[in-house]
Amino acid sequence: MGEMTQFEGLGAADGAVIGKAVCISTRIADIFQIPILESEIDAEIARFHQAVEASVVELSKMQERVGEELSNELAGIFDAQTLFLQDPSFLRQVEHHIVQEAVNAEWALQETVSEIQARFDEIDAEHLRERSEDLKHACRYVVRNLRGMHLHQLSEVKGEVVIVADDLSPSDAVRLGRENVVGFVIEHGSRTSHTTIIARSLGIPAVVGVAGIRRQISDQAEVPIVVDGGDGHVILWPDPPTLELYRQRLKDNERRELQLLETSLLAAVSKDGIEVKVMANIDLPEEIGDAVRFGAAGVGLYRSEFLYIEKSPALPTEEEHVALYRHLIEAVAPHPAIIRTYDLGGRKIAREVMETKEENPVLGLRGIRLTLARPDIFKTQIRALIRATIFGELWIMLPLVTIVEEIREFRRVAEEVMEELEEEGLPFHRDFKLGTMIEVPGAAVISDLMAKEVDFFSIGTNDLIQYSLAVDRNNEHVADLYRPLHPALIRMLKMITSNARHAGIEVSLCGEMASDPRLTPILLGCGLRRVSVSPRQVPSIKRRVRELTIEGLEQVVERCAHLSTGEEVDHYLDSVFQSEPVGEAGTVRS
Ligand code: PEP
Ligand code: MG
Repeated sequence: MGEMTQFEGLGAADGAVIGKAVCISTRIADIFQIPILESEIDAEIARFHQAVEASVVELSKMQERVGEELSNELAGIFDAQTLFLQDPSFLRQVEHHIVQEAVNAEWALQETVSEIQARFDEIDAEHLRERSEDLKHACRYVVRNLRGMHLHQLSEVKGEVVIVADDLSPSDAVRLGRENVVGFVIEHGSRTSHTTIIARSLGIPAVVGVAGIRRQISDQAEVPIVVDGGDGHVILWPDPPTLELYRQRLKDNERRELQLLETSLLAAVSKDGIEVKVMANIDLPEEIGDAVRFGAAGVGLYRSEFLYIEKSPALPTEEEHVALYRHLIEAVAPHPAIIRTYDLGGRKIAREVMETKEENPVLGLRGIRLTLARPDIFKTQIRALIRATIFGELWIMLPLVTIVEEIREFRRVAEEVMEELEEEGLPFHRDFKLGTMIEVPGAAVISDLMAKEVDFFSIGTNDLIQYSLAVDRNNEHVADLYRPLHPALIRMLKMITSNARHAGIEVSLCGEMASDPRLTPILLGCGLRRVSVSPRQVPSIKRRVRELTIEGLEQVVERCAHLSTGEEVDHYLDSVFQSEPVGEAGTVRS
């Protein structure tokens, strides 16, 4: 039993939990060289072989599952990975490092992988790049097993598990969130990374940017832990008074949520009688129930790439797309369901569809660019979307658009698809709404031109902030520069909404800042009357709208857009909103 230790991170997904910490590593990178004694060499080799055997078993289970649920062809991917782990020359090479250098197996494995990789790199061939990915993937399993705990063993931990990881991909978060995991603590990341967005979707409290926590517990099993995703506190080995405090907090939270739920079906109408549509962002199909229960005015963003990420390594079929879209559309009828075409690439890696490795993927083949580059793959989605128009109010939205040609090209492909569907006798509605995300400064600046091409805008501030302030949305080291209230942002929001209004098209905002009730007055002051937020936040945002008088907010925003520093903005907003009886949402901070 250790001593109570507190860590500070960034609160990324609200709520507090008490559980048992399970440490995992998802990166093969931070492996340290640990010298061992000569007398320990045999045991180290045996430890390596055990980890390899466990990994082979896991890989074949995974292969079986993919074979049953998806296809045998895809299951074949795991063959190549297993073959590496059974290759005698590979195993000998690792053993050789352990013996010659008297080092730990993890280090020996990493050395071997680098040597093989260097050989692959010398020969510039596509199939070897794939082999290299297979090798790394297989070795990640071995490293996890060497470190004691593997993702697939989680169900064996009794009670509620809090994952403490160096990093987590969105798909790992989805998978873990569906097991007995109740909290995430991640050493890297920030509030708007896709992994934390997923944590919020699953309703799992998360704290990110907690440097060094794994070092404290990596060699200990099931450490008691408290995670507070609201204020970013993580406590290891909490003492009895701390545990009591958090148990009480959990009860209070439950009570507050129930109260909020009671008001969720009330409309979001401001004190001066203006209605605001509060829609829901959906990442996982299971969230649609919450969206309806919490009184959302439709789906404001369905991140369809998660359908792919969940099915990966398979690509979803046309019928799977259609069935899911139908489900979303019918669940929120008569409200619209805005379905965004795949926003793959960037950090939402699409191994099956990316042909090359990119130096800087966030500025690379991402979103609409990848869709248009691979119409063979994405036509499946476009066909499904157009077929789904018969089920109700479907609005189709394009991600990461930077030039109007991308919208026109999409329309051209959509025309082609409609001709095909007509020939095949499949029904669809031709007059669906097409919109674009505005999430790149270039698109914001030409939003007057963009508005002529589409029926609606949705402002993606998660990326708009990242790209306009040159702040990586996943990087905890620059998290304090990631400022939704930066005057540049406020000016852009005003410009986009005003351009949309002049063109007579709809505009909403679906970035994470819309889910923060403290920022609602700013968004309304920028002219927005439609926002899309995580389903659980719908009732608080609707309540916040009901507390506000919209008249006058435009002037408040105008003033903010001309204040030079974050501190000045904070002070000004404090002075404006503190006098209003708005409870917990009284102040606004950048
Ligand atoms: C955004 O960029 O604000 C957005 C909603 O898209 P995503 O978070 O999926 O990049
Ligand atoms: Mg985005």
